[in-house]
Amino acid sequence: MSFCASSAVLPQGKVVYAGTFDPFTRGHEDIVCRSARLFDRVIVAVAASEHKSPFFSLDERVAMGKMLFGDLANVDVMGFSTLLVDFAKAQGAHVSLRGLRAASDFEYEFQLAGMNRQLWPEMETIFLTPADQYMFVSASMVREIARFGGDVSRFVDPRVAEQLRQRSAKKTTTAKNA
Ligand code: ADP
Repeated sequence: MSFCASSAVLPQGKVVYAGTFDPFTRGHEDIVCRSARLFDRVIVAVAASEHKSPFFSLDERVAMGKMLFGDLANVDVMGFSTLLVDFAKAQGAHVSLRGLRAASDFEYEFQLAGMNRQLWPEMETIFLTPADQYMFVSASMVREIARFGGDVSRFVDPRVAEQLRQRSAKKTTTAKNA
């Protein structure tokens, strides 16, 4: 009798890579590219995350993802505003993929994986690490740099950089006129 509680094989062709992606960075893109080589189908699931008051709306972030990954045949970009496990269940995905950067991500990701396992034991969380040069790229820092008119070209796709520039300029004008 093997140690395994169950030897039933879960479907593993489909993976959900969920995040806020506000905006998509080169780090996120790196993880999507790696996962597209490993899985038959990758669903990039953009969380509404309204409590985070995102810089870009959900529709804008989904459109951004479609623009970035439109040429990858096995990658879909979708928005969601439910629990991740409910979204994954509805998509028939039994694998949740997350990216891991430096040690700082570990505590939160470990907790999230544990909670999700309690909510739906039929889903496993797996982690991929990005290339070294993207280990320290974070969407929140990219937003902060863009807000002050700094150069984000090393951290995001040029089209994302342009959208950040326009949005930051608009926010500055709105704040000045308020
Ligand atoms: P969330 O709000 O869910 O943390 P993020 O958009 O910040 O959403 O991140 C989505 C996922 O991508 C998380 O697993 C996060 O750890 C990972 N991630 C963020 N930045 C990078 C990066 N530079 N390299 C690899 N993974 C990353």
